[in-house]
Amino acid sequence: MTIDSPDIRDGFDFEGRTACVTGAAQGIGEAVAEAFAALGANVVVADIDGAGAEAVAERVADAHGVRAVGLETDVSEYDAAVAMVEATVEAFGSLDVLVNNAGVAGVENFLDSEPADWDEKLGVSLYGTLNCTHAALPGMVERGDGVVINYASSSYRGNDPGLAVYGAAKAANRSFTKTMSKEVGGSGVRVNCVCPGTVETPSTKAFVEKYREKLGQSYALERVGRPQEVANAVVFLASDAASWITGETVHVDGGYVRR
Ligand code: NAD
Repeated sequence: MTIDSPDIRDGFDFEGRTACVTGAAQGIGEAVAEAFAALGANVVVADIDGAGAEAVAERVADAHGVRAVGLETDVSEYDAAVAMVEATVEAFGSLDVLVNNAGVAGVENFLDSEPADWDEKLGVSLYGTLNCTHAALPGMVERGDGVVINYASSSYRGNDPGLAVYGAAKAANRSFTKTMSKEVGGSGVRVNCVCPGTVETPSTKAFVEKYREKLGQSYALERVGRPQEVANAVVFLASDAASWITGETVHVDGGYVRR
């Protein structure tokens, strides 16, 4: 910890630390992996798309002079989450920051869906968070140091017809964040959550391009977000500059006004 340092920049120094970012082969997760690398962290890029994860790891390692590995990981499987944490510790010695970025949306009216349709959304967006957190926390608690960042979404509020199951998973992640912060806070481990509004990523690109103007009306800043803008909040919450912030959900949503 560098919290006694008089230089605020030291709070954002991740050199010698390891960040593991799930769902980081593209989109917001890729931007998060890059942001940690830019601040000196070793990075694990975990994604169900193994080739994509390796490509991102290679790119950010080359660009920022850090070490990075890509891991094919299905976060909806508990054993895969355990293997991801073990591989991280084996490669870099410790897992200091876990970012539970992987999530799957998909628009569909609830009454048109079947139980099988809920599995992927809950499996990745909720169980992925539970699996990876359960696998990562024991090591953090033992060392008395570590940060977990979870993901909600503006749709946790229930404002978005078609996103009932996804929104429920994201609401659960907020609740889980708060509870976990209390369960592990005494050991010095922090657990926070980011709640993005609409961000232009490969999975939202077509939707954003079609409705860009209308979407802008939902935000005080009158535009959708960029992946890097969420990544900035993630690295802040993971940094020593946020050493007394835990259990919080930080809304990164350009001033979402459609409450
Ligand atoms: P994206 O769909 O562009 O990328 C998601 C990544 O997760 C992909 O690389 C995909 O291969 C990976 N993935 C999917 N299933 C996986 C699994 N089972 N195990 C591991 N990886 C898996 O997503 P995005 O738009 O960058 O969103 C990232 C996060 O931010 C998600 O949690 C999402 O719910 C949240 N979010 C996004 C927006 C938005 O508008 N983009 C808004 C609010 C919240």
